Amino acid sequence: MWISLYPGVKYRFDWEWIQGVADKHKIFVWRKETPEFVESSLIEEIPNKDFVRMIYQNCDRAHLFSCHTIYEGRYYICEPAVWMESRLGLHGISFENKESDSVAIHESADLYQDLDSLIRRQEPLKACSFCLGSWARSTPNEQLSKSDIQAFVTRKPDELARLVSPAWIVPRSYTSPDPI
Ligand code: SF4
Repeated sequence: MWISLYPGVKYRFDWEWIQGVADKHKIFVWRKETPEFVESSLIEEIPNKDFVRMIYQNCDRAHLFSCHTIYEGRYYICEPAVWMESRLGLHGISFENKESDSVAIHESADLYQDLDSLIRRQEPLKACSFCLGSWARSTPNEQLSKSDIQAFVTRKPDELARLVSPAWIVPRSYTSPDPI
């Protein structure tokens, strides 16, 4: 299990208590210093479907880190998919992905099959059209004021190519709004 530690944030964890729980259940706990965030969620749709597919197939959250998330009785394979609808709504973008990107846990006739199908899904989620997954650029963490948050949420989108991590050389045809 990991607990993310962000710079400038005061925690009320009692590390001795956590040590006791770790001892009792033989759990390894990673106190994960987290000086950077990846800015993976976008406010413009990625126009290239092949690029979206590549992002999904190489997404650590979906296929490596097991970011399983349950919200309002629905199971999602990653947390960005949960908030995509409401987050885009803040920007006036109409988007709906509950049905396509999650499983209604209490309404499923065959829950095992439905969960298995979602976890092993080959095609991208609908949410992936607005997400860079593991290919997003890292930015230093900082605590924002209320006005900073407002400015951040309403800012104009950067060009897609600038948001991809410089660790990757991505074919320009994938990130350019105009076909190359
Ligand atoms: S929405 Fe983002 S985090 Fe979730 S699977 Fe798609 S690319 Fe990965």
